[in-house]
Amino acid sequence: MKPLPREFNILEIERKWQTKWEETGTYHFDSGDKKRLSFSIDTPPPYPSGDFHMGNVLNWTYFDIAARYKRMRGFNVFFPQGWDCHGLGIEVQAEKENKVRKREIPPDKFRKLCEVLVNKYIAIMKEAVVRLGISIDWTTEYRTMNPDYWRRTQLSFILLHKKGLMYQGTHPINWCPRCETAIADAEVNYDQREGTLHYIKFPLEDSKDSLTIATTRPELIPACVAVAINPTDDRFNKHIGKKIIVPIVNRAVQIIPDETVDPEFGTGVVMICTYGDKADVKTVLHHKLKPIIILAGDGRINASGGKYAGLTTDEAKKAIVGDLSKEGLLVKTERITQEIGTCDRCESPVEILELKQWFMRTRALTDDVEKTANKVVWYPDYMKTRLIDWARSLDWDWVISRQRVFGTPIPVWYCENCGEVILADENWVPMDPKLENPGIKKCPKCGRTEFVPEKDVFDTWMDSSISCAVHAGWPDSKDWRRLFPADMHPSGIDIIRTWAYYLMVRHLALFNETPYKSCLINGMVLGLDGRKMSKSLKNYVAAPEVVNKYGADASRQWAAAGGATGSDIPFRWPDVEYAKRFMTKLWNASAFVSGLLKDYEPDEKARHALQPLDKWILSKTEKLTQTVTEALDKCQFNIAMEEIRNFTWHVFCDCYIEAVKDKLYKPEVYGKAKRRAAQYTLHTVLHRLLQVLAPIMPHLTEEIYQTMYSEEKKFKSVHLSSWPIPDAKLVDEEAEKEGEAIMAVITEIRREKSEKHMPLNTPISKLTVYAGSEKSAHTLLKGKEDIAGTCKVENLEILPKEGEGREISLRGIRFVAKY
Ligand SMILES: [Zn+2]
Ligand SMILES: [Zn+2]
Repeated sequence: MKPLPREFNILEIERKWQTKWEETGTYHFDSGDKKRLSFSIDTPPPYPSGDFHMGNVLNWTYFDIAARYKRMRGFNVFFPQGWDCHGLGIEVQAEKENKVRKREIPPDKFRKLCEVLVNKYIAIMKEAVVRLGISIDWTTEYRTMNPDYWRRTQLSFILLHKKGLMYQGTHPINWCPRCETAIADAEVNYDQREGTLHYIKFPLEDSKDSLTIATTRPELIPACVAVAINPTDDRFNKHIGKKIIVPIVNRAVQIIPDETVDPEFGTGVVMICTYGDKADVKTVLHHKLKPIIILAGDGRINASGGKYAGLTTDEAKKAIVGDLSKEGLLVKTERITQEIGTCDRCESPVEILELKQWFMRTRALTDDVEKTANKVVWYPDYMKTRLIDWARSLDWDWVISRQRVFGTPIPVWYCENCGEVILADENWVPMDPKLENPGIKKCPKCGRTEFVPEKDVFDTWMDSSISCAVHAGWPDSKDWRRLFPADMHPSGIDIIRTWAYYLMVRHLALFNETPYKSCLINGMVLGLDGRKMSKSLKNYVAAPEVVNKYGADASRQWAAAGGATGSDIPFRWPDVEYAKRFMTKLWNASAFVSGLLKDYEPDEKARHALQPLDKWILSKTEKLTQTVTEALDKCQFNIAMEEIRNFTWHVFCDCYIEAVKDKLYKPEVYGKAKRRAAQYTLHTVLHRLLQVLAPIMPHLTEEIYQTMYSEEKKFKSVHLSSWPIPDAKLVDEEAEKEGEAIMAVITEIRREKSEKHMPLNTPISKLTVYAGSEKSAHTLLKGKEDIAGTCKVENLEILPKEGEGREISLRGIRFVAKY
């Protein structure tokens, strides 16, 4: 066995192995190997943001541990990586960096700017993923902005369209006026913001009386289509059915009953506008009111807004409040905190507009989603309700068209004459209808020959929500069902509503089958102040800062040990520092062991001479393996990490190595057989520790394994070695009890020495141990040599009776040491 050097440079070690693993294809999926079962991971393709944060470290570490564990368990692991390029964030950033607005330059020029940015960001993120030691098979890398991926997204749309699951409609949609695009419910966040509640008089028709309404959005008064009152509100319900005049526009509208009106809020009289919020949408639909849309896509008042046309909503608000005030209709104002929907990408308040859009008929699949989600294995289990609750809460179908440039084109044209939708043929894709004509000469409906292309593109989730099928090789590979459904889909708790949901609904629609068999959920990373880590809260730590300082293995330990899977994990520097200290401990112990094993030839026969302490730790090692295996089977990474760390540090290093050192140095005293038995034990236990640690700390374990074990074990890498299958037969409770008692005596003597400020190798001229019983004395006698050798006892006496002296905790054993 080669000796391990005393010093190590973790950053160098990590770099070295990352390069070697890639060069030798250590993590490649072997498609030719059909003997081993495959295990496919649906790696979520991230948005290239150019930013790899501790949340990414947490979630990549989780699924990489799973991948490495399964690989060692003998699975042919398929671990792909793609990039979900068409994010709205990229457009926003491309505009900022290049100081352009996308509408002001030709679309293909703007696309190019986005592509340059995406490639720059991918390079940064890929480097971070590699630096973290993630065992991706990089031969699978793909980008959703490439035409070959467009083809898959477009094909899936065509297939779903043919199934009647895609439709065009004019419905209320969430709209970001800054980004000038429709956005889905999942892209709307709800924020508490300060606002002003305006109390405004609405005159009753044919009466001198008026009712006062309260609204935070007086600028929408021109879009008022009704006034609502709770029918149980005795103050006002007598007015239901009458008409009331909308000020500013002097239009009469109906006073309608609506149970959802809260009589306690504002005045209890509510104006219904098209649209102030989602409640308005429901009321308008319920009462079949005709909407008046006064907002244009750029967030300005349109021609229906009369004299306010052209103003922004803020300007219109000021102008209308001023006019109301002049007319004496503004009763009062008060400050309130209100919840408003904001754009996930730019944080601007979202408006609700009515525009013609493409939708996927997702709500029709809600029962299916629920049924399937219940069959999926969730880590942790309670996360499935998040998906089900989200699916059940959706009021609208998924709006899949976006008024953007950087996205997969919707493969559709319209007949210029009759408006007939011309859907691309499955064989025409990938293509951009703006650049190509349909492969037919004339409109099938009216026979005319002029077509207009669809200019909208798909929501980026339309690309990424077919990843399970695409990873498996759909539609090109005949064999794609081999890797479908994915065995594991990993997701952050915050994107269950998008990633996990869209994957589910999309694949159910396409293939009538679940896309993933299990779903691994990670929580959020909390900053040093206990709040969710984010740049805007200034509690942010960038991943490279941690990895460059302490290395990937320490960062991965933080992720694994930070808390239960699915819970929020705080980031704390001391946790990473502790992880680094653990690595130093393991390294030093390994280097020391490699010295002790210099002359050792692996030999199972050495087992015949195993001593109580050897049997004790071998049995405990077996139990550790069992616990870690069970924990990793259940994705309980924190349990695995803590068990291994405690065992390595306290049982293996602090106890066992200390207790057998003497034996290894003095074969003449103990005899060769016992020495070899101790060497066998050290050799076995350290190898086992490297194996169970390998999924969590891939670099350091590889370095130690390659130096000390690879020649003998013949595996190209510790990561390609077979996971130790726990063997209950090797657990020896009796030996554990005996070893425990002997170890307790040694530990207590060492403690006494350190309390007396003596060096641990201070000789004890006479040690009397009062075992308290025959049985206990019998046990301790088996460890007499170990106790004497480790504690430097010249004259050791073990007596079965009870006696005086220092007590060994809770064992009824006492001892007196004369120095
Ligand atoms: Zn926006
Ligand atoms: Zn036509």
